[in-house]
Amino acid sequence: MTADYTSQLHHLFGFSSFRTGQQEVVQRLLNQRSTLAIFPTGSGKSLCYQFVATQLPHLTLVVSPLLALMKDQLAFLHSKGIAAASIDSTLTHEQNRQVMNDVRTGHCKILMVSVERFKNERFRQFLASIEVSMLVVDEAHCISEWGHNFRPDYLKLPAYKQALNIPLVLLLTATATKKVKLDMARRFAIHTEDIIQTGFYRPNLNLNVLPVVEANKNEALLQQLHQQSGAGIVYVTLQKTAEEVARFLQQNGCRAKAYHAGLDSDIRQTIQHDFMQNHLQVVVATIAFGMGIDKSDIRFVIHYDLPKSIENYSQEIGRGGRDGQPAICTVLANLDGIVTIENFVYGDTPDQDAIVRVIDDIAAQGKTPDSNGRYQWETQLNSLSTLSNIRQLPLKTLLVQLELAEVIRPLYAYFAEFKFRFITDKAQILNQFSAERREFLNAVFTHTNMKKVWGVVDFDSIYQHYGAERGRVVTALEYLHEHNHIELASRLITDVYEVNQPKLLADDLAAKLASYFAENEEKEIQRIATLVRFFELDKCLNASLSAYFDDQHAPAQCGHCSVCKGKVAKLSYSHPIPMPDKTQVAEAMAALNAHLKDKLDIPLTESMYCRFLTNMTMPLFTRLKVKQVAGFGCCEHCRYGDVKTLVASLLP
Ligand SMILES: [Zn+2]
Repeated sequence: MTADYTSQLHHLFGFSSFRTGQQEVVQRLLNQRSTLAIFPTGSGKSLCYQFVATQLPHLTLVVSPLLALMKDQLAFLHSKGIAAASIDSTLTHEQNRQVMNDVRTGHCKILMVSVERFKNERFRQFLASIEVSMLVVDEAHCISEWGHNFRPDYLKLPAYKQALNIPLVLLLTATATKKVKLDMARRFAIHTEDIIQTGFYRPNLNLNVLPVVEANKNEALLQQLHQQSGAGIVYVTLQKTAEEVARFLQQNGCRAKAYHAGLDSDIRQTIQHDFMQNHLQVVVATIAFGMGIDKSDIRFVIHYDLPKSIENYSQEIGRGGRDGQPAICTVLANLDGIVTIENFVYGDTPDQDAIVRVIDDIAAQGKTPDSNGRYQWETQLNSLSTLSNIRQLPLKTLLVQLELAEVIRPLYAYFAEFKFRFITDKAQILNQFSAERREFLNAVFTHTNMKKVWGVVDFDSIYQHYGAERGRVVTALEYLHEHNHIELASRLITDVYEVNQPKLLADDLAAKLASYFAENEEKEIQRIATLVRFFELDKCLNASLSAYFDDQHAPAQCGHCSVCKGKVAKLSYSHPIPMPDKTQVAEAMAALNAHLKDKLDIPLTESMYCRFLTNMTMPLFTRLKVKQVAGFGCCEHCRYGDVKTLVASLLP
């Protein structure tokens, strides 16, 4: 079945025709086929779901990783008179309630949320109470462990889709290697014939790699800018560098500003606005910039530091030349930043000891089964991170690995704490309900520890005295909140898992998980090596980039990249990488040992010393103020491997 939706498209959005790939995606979705769409940045991915949402009977739920992206898409939809909303941390309770009402009444057809929102018990209850026609996952490559922006929570989306009975899914991404593509499709049971990929190659992007040592970078940058007339972005790795480079450009008569996550949001908005209006020529940005920017006439994208990965590189250069006019993309390349990037990878790998602490916590809690004969484990990420001394991101990864190994299975998450305050008088609320409900609500109110204004609900006490399950209490509170009788607030997300005891107690579990992380570490280090190799290729850069993302139709020689123009880059270090100094390291280790003596309830391990020396942090360091100890970060420019070897030789 095919139909022509062009007149609808024109009527709703004012566009005269679909762009490449859009019609195929729309057609599949309207035939109830879940679809994966891989379009380059700026080629109208979002329109696919936006159009389809207007044709579906119920809600379209969009999961997006970034608030700026959501706000941008909402502004677009509103400009077309299409009712859409988001539920996010910037909303007041009142606005939140309004959005939920609009969704419930069908007035609002598109709702945008972050993946973390699903952990909210109240939100899931709300979703279960309405009909959802389609789930859209934006930046869907976050679901793949093989991808560059793996977000462990995304792995749970297929289960949510199933639990909420959502019949249709659309995955959107700009960058996916073949492996990532197939992985994404498999997780949502999307057929290969429903993967729509448009050409990756952008003939108007002129890719250049310019080898330059650190000391000459500013001059090289200035030279690049002198050849430009339009606006552009300069990408750097660190906030500090963004400030320094922007200042340098200003001193040289350039209308430039720094942009990074450390700036207040109103300053960031002003910069975005000025850039859109061409009041600024250059934005010197960390990767935080550009995600929500839809400026079509960006004429250059310069990487002052090496990008984090080939995927990041392709996304960042993809912001250039969206109007189809030429844009120049130049990487000012040397190997100086590589050690730092590599060290960050090592810093994120948890010790086997730390993994054992997590396993022990699960085992300690899950000794006795609940009334259904299930072993349960409840945890809060923050405190587990402190307890295990694993940073939050790798810890999330560890939990997902435990899920995939079927050691734990997520049951639900809830806010450990609900508090509320009365808006309507208590007696007046009770009077509105018939006897049984009145008695129940009275029990809820009685077993709430009221302070001056707010009270914290005591679920255990309600259950003991009245026998009401938590779910019923939450539903009631939610109802009162919606009807403006109380103001409800919640905090401390607690995840509840079912524990598979035999699998948890398997002898080799910790070792297996540790080797998973070791493999991951290796994979990440390889990814960095691939990136360096990419910039040193002697084959057309555009063709190689297209091949990396599985586009077989790009020309073998673009004719307009630096390799096609005869310049093969060779990257080098500006300075030789220093070796760690034995005396200095021994002193620093002694200082750390003295500082942590009597404070530490777990053994001080080799990797803790290594992280201390290489300027990496871990939860325990923050808690015990380790950054103040003399010698912290004294080997930050050294290779982690060299530091590790030396530390091992100094340990008894
Ligand atoms: Zn080329």
